[in-house]
Amino acid sequence: MTALTLTVSTSAGTGRLATPTTAGPTGLARTLSPCMIHGGSDVQMTEGVPTPAGYSHSTGTVHALTLMVDFSDAPGQGSALDRFHEFFPQTQEWFRRASYGRLDYRPETPVTTWLRMPKPFKAYGIERGAPFDPGYRQLVQDIVAVADPDVDFHAYDLLNVLITPNAGPSALDTVLSVTFAGNGDAPVADGVPVANASFVYSRQDDGSGSYARTGYRVLPHENGHTFGLPDLYTQEGGSAVGHWDIMSEDWGADNDLLGWHKWKLGWLDGTQVGCAPARGVAEFTLTPLYKAGGGKLVVVPIDGRTSYALELRSQGGNDEAVCKAGILIYKVDTTVDTGRGPVTVYDAHRGSGGCTRSPNVHTELSDAPFSPGESFKDPRHGITVEVVGAGPGGEYKIRVTRR
Ligand SMILES: [Zn+2]
Repeated sequence: MTALTLTVSTSAGTGRLATPTTAGPTGLARTLSPCMIHGGSDVQMTEGVPTPAGYSHSTGTVHALTLMVDFSDAPGQGSALDRFHEFFPQTQEWFRRASYGRLDYRPETPVTTWLRMPKPFKAYGIERGAPFDPGYRQLVQDIVAVADPDVDFHAYDLLNVLITPNAGPSALDTVLSVTFAGNGDAPVADGVPVANASFVYSRQDDGSGSYARTGYRVLPHENGHTFGLPDLYTQEGGSAVGHWDIMSEDWGADNDLLGWHKWKLGWLDGTQVGCAPARGVAEFTLTPLYKAGGGKLVVVPIDGRTSYALELRSQGGNDEAVCKAGILIYKVDTTVDTGRGPVTVYDAHRGSGGCTRSPNVHTELSDAPFSPGESFKDPRHGITVEVVGAGPGGEYKIRVTRR
């Protein structure tokens, strides 16, 4: 069934869909190659497919070394394992749902108590936007030195540092949480550089009473960086993507990743991604992104560096805050760096004020998806996307026309 749910009908043989294949990455690369766009090597963290090397692998078993750290001027309050349980098991469950079981995330705590750093917190000079040198390099060196007797760093794929929440400002004022990813220049421990490390500070508690359920979500966001995903929020906030990806908004109600990100991370196979690079008409059937199985993503490349992406978002699984189901249409620009707006969601109902009542969900874009009968047009590139209809099983049929 999965090979058939993403179907295509061509007009004069000009529409194209990747030939369904059960092959691995080689088959994927061959059949979807016109849709595997990538930017220049000057982009620090790119949306390009495939993801460059150096990041943690994002399929199979990922061993996440998780250490709880405190300081003489910010001693850990309560037990270190209580801090750990602010994030687990929710983070591993979130990754299991998001990846359709393809990422088996294993948090491991070889040290179950607070690791006391040799310097006070203020000595590391950590503030929002602080670079790796010198403060974080010193912090990582100190973590390695203090933990090394109990930890074989070689045995892990990424590092989570859960800082005692009383170190630094409240996340309501300044979010310090940060990830250094693909950092081959990081301090070496047990023969390997600590190249993919996430640091989580404070508590993302908006006072709405949802912290126990949603406060963990900063960690899947930070770990998204260790897998090579860029930030989708911009200086202006979440206005480019809204609540449609955890790399855009990680406060409040749960959300999933864009289908583009799932493709990048290896969570979709070749039969689940449609590619519409050529002139003509192509039709595709998409199933809700949160659910396993079926067609998930249609890629309509504009050129070798930018593309439209189409997917069906509806309420369920990690997508608990979706208030209007439909086809989400967004543009991916692989030449735009992390935090500068590499992805832009198109709002089918611009100026409507949105449909959500959930705090921390970007309001205007909450009703961005296109409904049956609605269409998206890019006259300059001769691209039209029509939402043809919705089926009884919740699947949607879409038509892509290129001239
Ligand atoms: Zn981030």
